[in-house]
Amino acid sequence: MKRSFQNVVILFALMVVFTSCGDGWKKYIPLSVDKELGIQAQNQYDLMYKNQILPEKDHQELYDKINLIKERILKSGKVAHTDDFDWELKIINDSVLNAFCLPGGKIYIFTGLIKYLDNEAQLAGVMGHEIAHADKRHSIDNMAKQLGLAALINLVIGDAGSLIDIAQNLIGLKFSRDNEAQADEYSVNYLYETVYDASEANGFFNKLEKDNQEEEISPFLSTHPAPENRKENMLVHWKLLGGKGGEKMEANYLKIKEYLPKNNNEKW
Ligand SMILES: [Zn+2]
Repeated sequence: MKRSFQNVVILFALMVVFTSCGDGWKKYIPLSVDKELGIQAQNQYDLMYKNQILPEKDHQELYDKINLIKERILKSGKVAHTDDFDWELKIINDSVLNAFCLPGGKIYIFTGLIKYLDNEAQLAGVMGHEIAHADKRHSIDNMAKQLGLAALINLVIGDAGSLIDIAQNLIGLKFSRDNEAQADEYSVNYLYETVYDASEANGFFNKLEKDNQEEEISPFLSTHPAPENRKENMLVHWKLLGGKGGEKMEANYLKIKEYLPKNNNEKW
């Protein structure tokens, strides 16, 4: 097929799928776009946190423990792109209560969040939420919204020169409420198929509410909607799945915390 004709076909296909419901159109955007965006954004974050990212070779036990949580989620059978993306974990030594995952599976977790939580299932819940953002390709949704069809088509037909700009635009961009709700739901779905107690997937929200700390201390909530009904919705979803119990792994989590670097000016 001639390239120009091919482009017209792709354009037509995209216009059709964009105007229909659901997110089936995303399958027309190659996964290489997520991966490339992820790499570009990762370069920026690695630079931003270059003095705070804990090198894996110096913190092997910590990385092994947190990577095990990540692997359990990725092998839950519910993550669509376990084998497509190069899932990678980096731990940032900072008291911030936050975690995020870039397109293509680059996960960052702050030590402040690890310290704040009470058990492994709660951390798995936050990781599941972040993994869902990448797995459900929510950055592609944002791109479609921010840049429109033309930029997406440029990417699809191979004009990737603008990817760096796009990656810069993606940093700090909020996801829609629908995407957040989907990430919450999939966090429960993932955990439900692991050893973890999926009813703890909302444990971070519960803790923030209990501590009455929601807006003040958690940057997680500056890039995510406030809990409001989110924790209840997650619990309802867990019950809908069958309400199966699981492990919280509190004792094991205490050991994880022992591997965290000892900082002086910590809040938690
Ligand atoms: Zn989110």
